[in-house]
Amino acid sequence: MLDESKIAICISGLFRKGCDTSLKNIYKALPYDTFYLHWEGYDKPNVPNCVFVPEPKYDYHCTLDTKTKPDCKIYRSAYRPPNPPHDRGGKMWWKPNYYNNTKECSKQLLAHYYLLNTLPEKYETIVRIRYDLLVSTKVDFRPYLELAQNGVCVGFAGSYQGMRGPEQKLTPHINCNCNNCSSWYMWDNMYFHPRHKFKNVQKFHDEKNLLGAEWGLYQVLCDQWKDRNFLNVWGGVAVLRYLSSLPEEWINL
Ligand SMILES: [Zn+2]
Repeated sequence: MLDESKIAICISGLFRKGCDTSLKNIYKALPYDTFYLHWEGYDKPNVPNCVFVPEPKYDYHCTLDTKTKPDCKIYRSAYRPPNPPHDRGGKMWWKPNYYNNTKECSKQLLAHYYLLNTLPEKYETIVRIRYDLLVSTKVDFRPYLELAQNGVCVGFAGSYQGMRGPEQKLTPHINCNCNNCSSWYMWDNMYFHPRHKFKNVQKFHDEKNLLGAEWGLYQVLCDQWKDRNFLNVWGGVAVLRYLSSLPEEWINL
């Protein structure tokens, strides 16, 4: 049985154009106690009781300079060093702006960590959502909330360019070997997790060893606990900038 009184919806990231509208989907799809964090120094988001903290500073590249390396084919493909003259290596070494665009991509983990630290003790089942995400109002997330309540971490993704809205079907990728999957890689557009597993994030950052994006999420929720108790699920969410639909349509998607 899902204990709704212990669920906290934690929203962080950057509040962009369209987020006023997309928040309504979150309230309908996941109608539980909701908390917000935003970095200082930006336009203030239109949300109640927002926590503001200074944006973290980076003097290392989160992935290239970290001691921990993901055991992941997606990582190996992107970060493989060049071997001149015939091998230009992974895209880290030649794709324009890739270095800068990925340097600080563990920042969302710090944001979520800071917000979690402000939550009352009673919240044990945690949902993290970025502001600029459209969450489907047409799918049932409850089975996955129940999994998180029982100790399983669940990551969601599902965006592609030009889509009208989130896919209205949730598809778990179990032991999957598709191009978006790896056993050391947790999808992070939205994720559900037991609160007690989201620990040591500041410590990793202070040690210059906090990985970015999907690798960092796996590092925090699974690798540091030496377990693989997670599930990636495709569908139910879409990042706003990929959408071809109008904001007035979103609530029905
Ligand atoms: Zn897959």
